[in-house]
Amino acid sequence: MPDGFSPSTTTQPLIDRFGRQVSYLRLSVTDRCDLRCSYCMAEHMTFLPKKDLLSLEELETVAAAFIRRGVRKIRITGGEPLVRKDIGELFDRLGAYMDHGLEELTLTTNATLLSAHAERLYKAGVRRVNVSLDTLDPAMFREITRRGDLQKSLDGIAAAKAAGLKVKINTVGLKHQNADEIPEMIEWAHAEGFDMTLIEVMPLGLTGEDRVDQYIPLFEIRDRLEKRWTLKDEKTGDAQAGPSRYVRVEETGGRLGFITPLTNNFCAGCNRVRVTCTGRIYMCLGQDDHVDLRAALRESEDPQAALDGALDRALFAKPERHEFAIRERGDAPALPRHMSVTGG
Ligand code: SAM
Ligand code: SF4
Repeated sequence: MPDGFSPSTTTQPLIDRFGRQVSYLRLSVTDRCDLRCSYCMAEHMTFLPKKDLLSLEELETVAAAFIRRGVRKIRITGGEPLVRKDIGELFDRLGAYMDHGLEELTLTTNATLLSAHAERLYKAGVRRVNVSLDTLDPAMFREITRRGDLQKSLDGIAAAKAAGLKVKINTVGLKHQNADEIPEMIEWAHAEGFDMTLIEVMPLGLTGEDRVDQYIPLFEIRDRLEKRWTLKDEKTGDAQAGPSRYVRVEETGGRLGFITPLTNNFCAGCNRVRVTCTGRIYMCLGQDDHVDLRAALRESEDPQAALDGALDRALFAKPERHEFAIRERGDAPALPRHMSVTGG
Protein backbone atom coordinates (compact mmCIF):
# COMPACT_ATOMS: atom_id res chain seq x y z
CA MET A 1 0.00 0.00 0.00
CA PRO A 2 1.46 3.42 -0.88
CA ASP A 3 2.67 5.55 2.04
CA GLY A 4 -0.02 7.90 3.25
CA PHE A 5 -2.82 6.00 1.48
CA SER A 6 -6.09 6.73 3.15
CA PRO A 7 -9.60 6.06 1.89
CA SER A 8 -10.65 9.13 3.89
CA THR A 9 -9.00 11.25 1.20
CA THR A 10 -11.91 10.13 -1.03
CA THR A 11 -12.92 13.23 -2.90
CA GLN A 12 -15.83 12.30 -5.07
CA PRO A 13 -17.65 9.00 -5.14
CA LEU A 14 -18.15 7.49 -8.58
CA ILE A 15 -21.78 8.35 -9.36
CA ASP A 16 -23.01 8.12 -12.94
CA ARG A 17 -25.60 10.18 -14.85
CA PHE A 18 -28.36 7.82 -13.74
CA GLY A 19 -27.53 8.19 -10.05
CA ARG A 20 -25.89 4.76 -9.73
CA GLN A 21 -22.83 4.69 -7.47
CA VAL A 22 -19.97 2.43 -8.54
CA SER A 23 -18.72 0.51 -5.52
CA TYR A 24 -17.59 -2.68 -7.25
CA LEU A 25 -14.62 -3.16 -9.59
CA ARG A 26 -13.93 -6.24 -11.66
CA LEU A 27 -10.26 -6.16 -12.48
CA SER A 28 -8.91 -8.48 -15.16
CA VAL A 29 -5.27 -9.47 -14.78
CA THR A 30 -4.79 -11.54 -17.95
CA ASP A 31 -6.65 -12.50 -21.13
CA ARG A 32 -4.96 -15.94 -21.09
CA CYS A 33 -6.48 -19.15 -19.87
CA ASP A 34 -5.60 -22.83 -19.59
CA LEU A 35 -9.09 -23.79 -20.85
CA ARG A 36 -11.03 -22.84 -24.00
CA CYS A 37 -14.68 -22.99 -22.92
CA SER A 38 -16.70 -23.19 -26.10
CA TYR A 39 -19.05 -20.33 -25.13
CA CYS A 40 -16.20 -18.04 -24.04
CA MET A 41 -13.26 -18.45 -26.41
CA ALA A 42 -12.37 -19.69 -29.85
CA GLU A 43 -10.37 -22.92 -30.00
CA HIS A 44 -7.34 -21.12 -31.37
CA MET A 45 -7.13 -17.84 -29.54
CA THR A 46 -4.49 -15.19 -30.08
CA PHE A 47 -3.50 -13.64 -26.78
CA LEU A 48 -2.08 -10.22 -26.09
CA PRO A 49 1.66 -9.64 -25.87
CA LYS A 50 2.71 -9.51 -22.19
CA LYS A 51 4.02 -5.94 -22.53
CA ASP A 52 0.48 -4.73 -23.18
CA LEU A 53 -0.70 -5.98 -19.80
CA LEU A 54 -0.73 -3.78 -16.73
CA SER A 55 2.16 -4.58 -14.44
CA LEU A 56 1.66 -5.58 -10.83
CA GLU A 57 2.43 -2.01 -9.75
CA GLU A 58 0.01 -0.57 -12.30
CA LEU A 59 -2.75 -2.94 -11.21
CA GLU A 60 -2.25 -1.84 -7.62
CA THR A 61 -2.28 1.85 -8.60
CA VAL A 62 -5.52 1.39 -10.51
CA ALA A 63 -7.11 -0.51 -7.63
CA ALA A 64 -6.01 2.19 -5.15
CA ALA A 65 -7.50 4.94 -7.36
CA PHE A 66 -10.85 3.13 -7.34
CA ILE A 67 -10.73 2.53 -3.58
CA ARG A 68 -10.07 6.24 -3.02
CA ARG A 69 -13.18 6.98 -5.06
CA GLY A 70 -15.36 4.71 -2.97
CA VAL A 71 -14.99 1.23 -4.47
CA ARG A 72 -15.47 -1.30 -1.65
CA LYS A 73 -15.32 -4.60 -3.48
CA ILE A 74 -12.76 -5.84 -6.00
CA ARG A 75 -13.10 -9.07 -7.94
CA ILE A 76 -9.98 -10.29 -9.73
CA THR A 77 -10.79 -12.04 -12.97
CA GLY A 78 -9.54 -12.76 -16.48
CA GLY A 79 -9.01 -14.95 -18.62
CA GLU A 80 -7.97 -17.23 -15.83
CA PRO A 81 -6.45 -15.04 -13.09
CA LEU A 82 -4.47 -17.87 -11.51
CA VAL A 83 -2.38 -18.47 -14.66
CA ARG A 84 -0.69 -15.09 -14.10
CA LYS A 85 2.73 -15.75 -12.53
CA ASP A 86 2.70 -12.89 -9.99
CA ILE A 87 -0.93 -13.39 -8.95
CA GLY A 88 -0.08 -14.41 -5.38
CA GLU A 89 1.79 -11.17 -4.86
CA LEU A 90 -1.07 -9.13 -6.33
CA PHE A 91 -3.43 -10.66 -3.77
CA ASP A 92 -0.93 -9.96 -0.97
CA ARG A 93 -0.71 -6.32 -2.07
CA LEU A 94 -4.42 -5.76 -2.53
CA GLY A 95 -5.13 -7.57 0.73
CA ALA A 96 -3.29 -4.73 2.49
CA TYR A 97 -6.19 -2.41 1.52
CA MET A 98 -8.68 -4.51 3.46
CA ASP A 99 -9.95 -2.33 6.30
CA HIS A 100 -8.38 0.66 4.53
CA GLY A 101 -11.38 1.26 2.33
CA LEU A 102 -11.63 -2.16 0.75
CA GLU A 103 -14.28 -4.41 2.29
CA GLU A 104 -14.08 -7.42 0.01
CA LEU A 105 -11.37 -8.91 -2.19
CA THR A 106 -12.39 -11.90 -4.23
CA LEU A 107 -11.85 -13.73 -7.53
CA THR A 108 -13.53 -15.72 -10.25
CA THR A 109 -11.63 -18.81 -11.33
CA ASN A 110 -11.98 -22.10 -13.15
CA ALA A 111 -10.25 -23.69 -10.11
CA THR A 112 -7.73 -25.75 -12.11
CA LEU A 113 -4.88 -24.06 -10.20
CA LEU A 114 -6.76 -23.28 -7.02
CA SER A 115 -5.18 -26.11 -4.98
CA ALA A 116 -1.83 -24.32 -5.12
CA HIS A 117 -3.27 -20.89 -4.24
CA ALA A 118 -6.16 -21.40 -1.82
CA GLU A 119 -4.26 -20.95 1.44
CA ARG A 120 -2.36 -17.87 0.27
CA LEU A 121 -5.60 -16.30 -0.94
CA TYR A 122 -7.15 -16.83 2.47
CA LYS A 123 -4.11 -15.32 4.19
CA ALA A 124 -4.32 -12.29 1.89
CA GLY A 125 -7.89 -11.63 3.08
CA VAL A 126 -9.99 -13.41 0.44
CA ARG A 127 -13.03 -15.07 2.02
CA ARG A 128 -15.18 -16.01 -0.97
CA VAL A 129 -14.41 -17.35 -4.43
CA ASN A 130 -16.62 -17.86 -7.47
CA VAL A 131 -15.76 -21.03 -9.33
CA SER A 132 -17.01 -21.57 -12.87
CA LEU A 133 -18.02 -25.18 -13.38
CA ASP A 134 -20.47 -26.26 -16.06
CA THR A 135 -20.63 -30.02 -15.57
CA LEU A 136 -19.65 -32.83 -13.19
CA ASP A 137 -19.13 -35.28 -16.03
CA PRO A 138 -15.43 -35.65 -16.96
CA ALA A 139 -16.12 -36.27 -20.69
CA MET A 140 -18.54 -33.35 -20.90
CA PHE A 141 -16.05 -31.15 -19.03
CA ARG A 142 -13.43 -31.98 -21.63
CA GLU A 143 -15.92 -31.24 -24.41
CA ILE A 144 -17.09 -27.89 -23.01
CA THR A 145 -13.61 -26.68 -22.02
CA ARG A 146 -12.07 -28.30 -25.13
CA ARG A 147 -9.16 -29.64 -23.03
CA GLY A 148 -9.75 -29.60 -19.28
CA ASP A 149 -9.42 -32.26 -16.59
CA LEU A 150 -12.46 -32.09 -14.31
CA GLN A 151 -10.56 -33.63 -11.40
CA LYS A 152 -8.15 -30.70 -11.22
CA SER A 153 -11.03 -28.27 -10.80
CA LEU A 154 -12.73 -30.51 -8.21
CA ASP A 155 -9.44 -30.73 -6.29
CA GLY A 156 -9.15 -26.93 -6.43
CA ILE A 157 -12.68 -26.53 -5.10
CA ALA A 158 -11.96 -28.98 -2.26
CA ALA A 159 -8.75 -27.10 -1.41
CA ALA A 160 -10.63 -23.80 -1.29
CA LYS A 161 -13.21 -25.27 1.07
CA ALA A 162 -10.49 -26.76 3.27
CA ALA A 163 -8.72 -23.37 3.41
CA GLY A 164 -11.90 -21.76 4.76
CA LEU A 165 -13.01 -20.01 1.56
CA LYS A 166 -16.73 -19.81 0.87
CA VAL A 167 -17.31 -21.19 -2.63
CA LYS A 168 -20.03 -20.19 -5.08
CA ILE A 169 -20.43 -22.26 -8.22
CA ASN A 170 -21.26 -20.40 -11.46
CA THR A 171 -22.74 -22.49 -14.23
CA VAL A 172 -23.56 -21.29 -17.74
CA GLY A 173 -26.73 -23.00 -18.98
CA LEU A 174 -25.98 -24.74 -22.31
CA LYS A 175 -28.92 -26.16 -24.23
CA HIS A 176 -27.35 -29.37 -25.51
CA GLN A 177 -24.53 -29.86 -23.06
CA ASN A 178 -25.59 -29.39 -19.45
CA ALA A 179 -29.26 -28.34 -19.28
CA ASP A 180 -30.35 -31.86 -18.25
CA GLU A 181 -27.59 -32.16 -15.67
CA ILE A 182 -28.37 -28.97 -13.80
CA PRO A 183 -30.55 -30.53 -11.03
CA GLU A 184 -27.76 -32.99 -10.26
CA MET A 185 -25.23 -30.14 -10.10
CA ILE A 186 -27.47 -28.18 -7.75
CA GLU A 187 -27.79 -31.21 -5.46
CA TRP A 188 -24.02 -31.63 -5.42
CA ALA A 189 -23.29 -27.93 -4.79
CA HIS A 190 -25.84 -27.61 -2.02
CA ALA A 191 -24.69 -30.83 -0.35
CA GLU A 192 -21.16 -29.35 -0.34
CA GLY A 193 -22.52 -26.15 1.26
CA PHE A 194 -21.96 -24.02 -1.86
CA ASP A 195 -24.34 -21.44 -3.32
CA MET A 196 -24.86 -21.89 -7.04
CA THR A 197 -25.70 -19.39 -9.77
CA LEU A 198 -26.95 -20.19 -13.26
CA ILE A 199 -26.02 -17.80 -16.08
CA GLU A 200 -27.51 -17.26 -19.53
CA VAL A 201 -24.96 -17.47 -22.31
CA MET A 202 -24.22 -14.01 -23.76
CA PRO A 203 -23.32 -13.22 -27.39
CA LEU A 204 -19.78 -11.95 -26.72
CA GLY A 205 -17.01 -12.69 -29.21
CA LEU A 206 -16.66 -15.33 -31.93
CA THR A 207 -16.10 -18.81 -30.51
CA GLY A 208 -16.55 -21.01 -33.55
CA GLU A 209 -19.94 -22.13 -32.16
CA ASP A 210 -23.36 -20.74 -32.99
CA ARG A 211 -24.96 -19.09 -29.95
CA VAL A 212 -28.36 -20.41 -31.05
CA ASP A 213 -27.06 -23.94 -30.40
CA GLN A 214 -25.91 -22.98 -26.90
CA TYR A 215 -28.53 -20.58 -25.59
CA ILE A 216 -31.32 -21.75 -23.33
CA PRO A 217 -33.43 -19.13 -21.53
CA LEU A 218 -33.15 -19.68 -17.81
CA PHE A 219 -36.91 -19.51 -17.31
CA GLU A 220 -37.06 -22.88 -19.10
CA ILE A 221 -34.60 -24.35 -16.64
CA ARG A 222 -36.44 -22.73 -13.74
CA ASP A 223 -39.75 -24.24 -14.95
CA ARG A 224 -38.17 -27.68 -14.98
CA LEU A 225 -36.70 -27.18 -11.48
CA GLU A 226 -40.08 -26.06 -10.14
CA LYS A 227 -41.61 -29.38 -11.24
CA ARG A 228 -39.12 -31.13 -8.98
CA TRP A 229 -38.57 -28.71 -6.07
CA THR A 230 -40.07 -25.76 -4.20
CA LEU A 231 -38.16 -22.55 -4.98
CA LYS A 232 -38.74 -19.69 -2.54
CA ASP A 233 -37.67 -16.16 -3.56
CA GLU A 234 -35.02 -14.73 -1.24
CA LYS A 235 -35.79 -11.14 -0.42
CA THR A 236 -33.43 -10.30 2.40
CA GLY A 237 -29.81 -9.23 2.77
CA ASP A 238 -27.67 -9.25 -0.36
CA ALA A 239 -30.03 -11.74 -2.05
CA GLN A 240 -31.38 -9.23 -4.55
CA ALA A 241 -28.26 -7.04 -4.92
CA GLY A 242 -26.32 -7.31 -8.20
CA PRO A 243 -27.52 -9.10 -11.31
CA SER A 244 -28.35 -12.40 -9.61
CA ARG A 245 -31.88 -13.17 -8.42
CA TYR A 246 -31.79 -15.77 -5.65
CA VAL A 247 -34.15 -18.46 -4.50
CA ARG A 248 -33.87 -20.99 -1.68
CA VAL A 249 -34.41 -24.58 -2.78
CA GLU A 250 -36.51 -25.96 0.08
CA GLU A 251 -35.58 -29.60 -0.46
CA THR A 252 -31.79 -29.05 -0.56
CA GLY A 253 -31.72 -26.04 1.79
CA GLY A 254 -29.25 -24.25 -0.54
CA ARG A 255 -29.31 -20.96 -2.41
CA LEU A 256 -29.67 -20.78 -6.16
CA GLY A 257 -29.17 -17.64 -8.25
CA PHE A 258 -30.26 -16.77 -11.78
CA ILE A 259 -28.35 -14.27 -13.94
CA THR A 260 -30.55 -13.51 -16.94
CA PRO A 261 -28.97 -10.81 -19.09
CA LEU A 262 -31.09 -11.84 -22.09
CA THR A 263 -34.49 -12.59 -20.65
CA ASN A 264 -34.56 -10.07 -17.81
CA ASN A 265 -32.48 -6.90 -17.87
CA PHE A 266 -30.94 -5.99 -14.51
CA CYS A 267 -29.08 -2.78 -15.40
CA ALA A 268 -31.06 -0.36 -13.21
CA GLY A 269 -29.15 -1.39 -10.08
CA CYS A 270 -25.74 -1.75 -11.75
CA ASN A 271 -22.96 -0.78 -9.32
CA ARG A 272 -19.94 -2.08 -11.21
CA VAL A 273 -17.35 -1.33 -13.85
CA ARG A 274 -14.74 -3.55 -15.43
CA VAL A 275 -11.07 -2.87 -16.12
CA THR A 276 -9.32 -5.09 -18.66
CA CYS A 277 -5.80 -6.43 -18.25
CA THR A 278 -4.59 -3.69 -20.61
CA GLY A 279 -6.16 -0.98 -18.47
CA ARG A 280 -9.29 -0.22 -20.46
CA ILE A 281 -12.23 0.65 -18.31
CA TYR A 282 -15.50 -0.68 -19.72
CA MET A 283 -18.53 0.81 -18.06
CA CYS A 284 -20.87 -1.90 -19.34
CA LEU A 285 -20.26 -5.54 -20.28
CA GLY A 286 -22.67 -5.16 -23.16
CA GLN A 287 -21.36 -1.92 -24.71
CA ASP A 288 -18.12 -1.02 -26.39
CA ASP A 289 -17.47 2.43 -24.87
CA HIS A 290 -14.26 2.48 -22.88
CA VAL A 291 -11.65 4.82 -21.45
CA ASP A 292 -7.93 4.04 -21.48
CA LEU A 293 -6.44 4.07 -17.98
CA ARG A 294 -3.09 2.70 -19.16
CA ALA A 295 -2.35 5.85 -21.14
CA ALA A 296 -3.19 7.89 -18.03
CA LEU A 297 -0.78 5.72 -16.04
CA ARG A 298 2.09 5.54 -18.50
CA GLU A 299 2.04 8.90 -20.23
CA SER A 300 1.04 11.45 -17.63
CA GLU A 301 3.38 13.37 -15.36
CA ASP A 302 0.76 13.20 -12.63
CA PRO A 303 -0.71 9.69 -12.98
CA GLN A 304 -2.96 10.10 -9.95
CA ALA A 305 -4.69 13.18 -11.38
CA ALA A 306 -4.81 11.61 -14.84
CA LEU A 307 -6.43 8.48 -13.42
CA ASP A 308 -9.02 10.55 -11.58
CA GLY A 309 -9.82 12.46 -14.75
CA ALA A 310 -10.14 9.20 -16.69
CA LEU A 311 -12.50 7.80 -14.04
CA ASP A 312 -14.67 10.91 -14.30
CA ARG A 313 -14.85 10.56 -18.09
CA ALA A 314 -15.68 6.88 -17.78
CA LEU A 315 -18.46 7.47 -15.29
CA PHE A 316 -20.02 10.14 -17.44
CA ALA A 317 -20.14 7.66 -20.31
CA LYS A 318 -21.65 4.74 -18.35
CA PRO A 319 -24.70 3.76 -20.43
CA GLU A 320 -28.11 3.12 -18.97
CA ARG A 321 -28.34 -0.52 -20.06
CA HIS A 322 -27.01 -3.25 -22.30
CA GLU A 323 -28.87 -4.57 -25.35
CA PHE A 324 -28.12 -8.30 -25.62
CA ALA A 325 -30.12 -10.59 -27.88
CA ILE A 326 -29.68 -14.04 -29.47
CA ARG A 327 -32.20 -14.34 -32.29
CA GLU A 328 -31.14 -15.94 -35.55
CA ARG A 329 -28.71 -18.66 -36.48
CA GLY A 330 -25.57 -17.03 -37.89
CA ASP A 331 -26.14 -13.70 -36.08
CA ALA A 332 -22.93 -11.79 -35.42
CA PRO A 333 -22.05 -11.48 -31.73
CA ALA A 334 -23.48 -8.42 -29.95
CA LEU A 335 -19.87 -7.41 -29.44
CA PRO A 336 -16.65 -8.74 -30.97
CA ARG A 337 -14.97 -8.69 -27.55
CA HIS A 338 -14.69 -12.04 -25.76
CA MET A 339 -15.77 -12.23 -22.12
CA SER A 340 -12.19 -13.30 -21.32
CA VAL A 341 -10.98 -9.88 -22.56
CA THR A 342 -13.41 -7.74 -20.57
CA GLY A 343 -13.21 -9.97 -17.53
CA GLY A 344 -16.24 -11.98 -16.46
N1 SAM B 1 -11.56 -18.04 -16.08
C1 SAM B 1 -12.36 -17.64 -14.99
C2 SAM B 1 -13.62 -18.46 -14.90
O1 SAM B 1 -13.99 -19.12 -15.86
O2 SAM B 1 -14.23 -18.39 -13.84
C3 SAM B 1 -12.70 -16.17 -14.96
C4 SAM B 1 -13.04 -15.50 -16.26
S1 SAM B 1 -14.50 -16.08 -17.08
C5 SAM B 1 -14.51 -15.04 -18.51
C6 SAM B 1 -15.74 -15.41 -16.00
C7 SAM B 1 -17.13 -15.95 -16.17
O3 SAM B 1 -17.61 -15.59 -17.43
C8 SAM B 1 -17.24 -17.45 -16.07
O4 SAM B 1 -18.20 -17.76 -15.09
C9 SAM B 1 -17.73 -17.87 -17.43
O5 SAM B 1 -18.57 -18.98 -17.35
C10 SAM B 1 -18.45 -16.63 -17.89
N2 SAM B 1 -18.58 -16.50 -19.34
C11 SAM B 1 -17.62 -16.49 -20.28
N3 SAM B 1 -18.14 -16.28 -21.52
C12 SAM B 1 -19.47 -16.16 -21.35
C13 SAM B 1 -20.56 -15.93 -22.23
N4 SAM B 1 -20.38 -15.78 -23.54
N5 SAM B 1 -21.80 -15.84 -21.70
C14 SAM B 1 -22.01 -15.99 -20.36
N6 SAM B 1 -21.02 -16.20 -19.47
C15 SAM B 1 -19.76 -16.29 -19.96
FE1 SF4 C 1 -11.15 -19.66 -19.48
FE2 SF4 C 1 -13.01 -18.83 -17.81
FE3 SF4 C 1 -13.26 -18.38 -20.44
FE4 SF4 C 1 -13.50 -20.86 -19.55
S1 SF4 C 1 -14.83 -19.16 -19.04
S2 SF4 C 1 -12.25 -20.21 -21.30
S3 SF4 C 1 -12.10 -20.88 -17.85
S4 SF4 C 1 -11.72 -17.54 -19.15
